[in-house]
Amino acid sequence: MIGSLVVGYNNSRAEVPSETVDQVANGAKVLVLNYHQVGTRFNPLTMPIDLFDEQMAYLVNAGYVSITPQELYDGICGVATLPPKPVLITFDDGYIDNFDNAFPILLKYGLKATIFVVPGFTDVNVGYLTWNQLREMEENGITIQSHTLNHRALEELPDDEIRAELLNSKLMLEENLGHPVEFLAYPTGTYNLHIASIARDVGYKAAFTIKYGNVDRGSNVFALERVPIFQQSNTMKAFYERIEYRQSFESFGWIKR
Ligand SMILES: [Zn+2]
Repeated sequence: MIGSLVVGYNNSRAEVPSETVDQVANGAKVLVLNYHQVGTRFNPLTMPIDLFDEQMAYLVNAGYVSITPQELYDGICGVATLPPKPVLITFDDGYIDNFDNAFPILLKYGLKATIFVVPGFTDVNVGYLTWNQLREMEENGITIQSHTLNHRALEELPDDEIRAELLNSKLMLEENLGHPVEFLAYPTGTYNLHIASIARDVGYKAAFTIKYGNVDRGSNVFALERVPIFQQSNTMKAFYERIEYRQSFESFGWIKR
């Protein structure tokens, strides 16, 4: 589930100069991919299974090393060193096809990933991951974090309800999964300073948006950038252009705010 999204990238670019790799090699940029569903439905948020497989193979062959949100956090805070080409693979909403379709592919390539789930849906709504599935994935390289309790549009809620959505999802996940839950993806990607301050107050360390970009040490830890991957990028060329977008941004001199 995602709100209005405006993303721009230079889709005329077919070749990416090799210095892109060097920029990543110095640890300055972290690629954070954002998926939703992986399956056969025709929906912009659904990535076809074979293409998802091809994208994961590309990452491995290109030398990307998958990391956890904690590793990302430690890296951008300067308390740990990130691998030369880090990638954080994320999924929002916790669709059941993440278990059925994406998980076997992630296992095949030995890739870590993170799923931001909506625990109010867990074992309640059909089509969403169950607690048993979440636990099985956590034993095999998948990290489960919060996407709020009920996926409501936070900016439309009074403070006590924003707080409940953020805190109760954290507590419910912690109780059922047995580990701290300290990372959040804002539902529909929307956030503001006020929502971010409540997220910090209830105990999150960092939060992810759908603001298009790479994470680096200049990133606001409560407004971390991601690169949304949609079915519209349904060729490997489009995927490649999308994840290497930084070259276009930097060539225009755009600066992170
Ligand atoms: Zn969502």
